[in-house]
Amino acid sequence: MHAYLSRDGIVPSRFLDLGRKEILKYPGVRFAPVEVLTARRVGTGFRVQLADGKAVKTRKLLIATGLFDILPRIPGFDDLFGRSVFQCPYCDGWEMRNRRTAVYGRGARGLNMARAMTAWCDDLLLCTDGRSGYSDLQRQQLERNGIRLVEKRVLRLEGSRGRLRAVVFKDGERIEREALFFDTPSRSQSKLAESLGCRFGRDSGVLCGDYEATSVPGVFVAGNIIRDVQLSIVAAAEGARAAFGINRALTREDFERRATGRRRIEHPQVAG
Ligand SMILES: Cc1cc2nc3c(=O)[nH]c(=O)nc-3n(C[C@H](O)[C@H](O)[C@H](O)COP(=O)(O)OP(=O)(O)OC[C@H]3O[C@@H](n4cnc5c(N)ncnc54)[C@H](O)[C@@H]3O)c2cc1C
Repeated sequence: MHAYLSRDGIVPSRFLDLGRKEILKYPGVRFAPVEVLTARRVGTGFRVQLADGKAVKTRKLLIATGLFDILPRIPGFDDLFGRSVFQCPYCDGWEMRNRRTAVYGRGARGLNMARAMTAWCDDLLLCTDGRSGYSDLQRQQLERNGIRLVEKRVLRLEGSRGRLRAVVFKDGERIEREALFFDTPSRSQSKLAESLGCRFGRDSGVLCGDYEATSVPGVFVAGNIIRDVQLSIVAAAEGARAAFGINRALTREDFERRATGRRRIEHPQVAG
């Protein structure tokens, strides 16, 4: 993992272990490695149904279930993914700087990724795996940036031991490449936010306001599910903001209940 200040280059599983060990030091924290099947409103709180048959009652919910990348179905792709084939230029672009790089993506996705990669590479091949649909102006822009556009169908990726060697096209042409960056659609890993009635906004991300509060009182979100900048350090920052918002709401609710006897859900307004 790159781009996480103080943890650059850490193996992701080690990063998770460190985080879990740290948080489990605190009383009242339990880690349940089990799927959440459903969450529904009960009174001013929620009932969360777990896949092991247990259910949990809670006053607040923080949903951080992330996204699932729909990977291109190209033979050879899986063996290279994460080693010389990547989807995030900000995570791995610098490490692949100045390599002969392919970009894989259809339509605007391919164009945007190729443009992003000009920050690190000047030998770029944009593969749209079929007709791109680009306008003359877009083609000219690519050409003036030294990006070669190939609209032929991709047959497979060639490489060994995680190192990409070439992109092979259906007509037999083979173009040598050392790295590939792709942009394909992604979908949410869970339907929890949707089933609770959270509103969605830009790029199908969960709409949220102050402290990552959603449009449903008591529900907060963090991480890729918001579809903002998709980096671990940003997910962590969103988690910290949500934690602040949750703690603030709980403290205010309890303060008011003790003072007046009234039970109320404290939750920021979400515009949009
Ligand atoms: C190959 C790859 C390389 C990357 N490299 C980097 C990098 O170098 N630097 C960087 O900053 N970012 C990198 N990223 C992006 C980074 O991993 C994400 O931005 C970050 O993990 C988002 O965190 P998240 O908590 O939103 O989601 P995730 O990390 O996806 O975590 C979501 C968790 O929720 C769980 N979950 C889903 N549904 C349920 C459910 N119903 N019940 C219970 N649990 C559920 C999932 O199992 C998962 O553990 C990379 C991503 C990929 C795919």
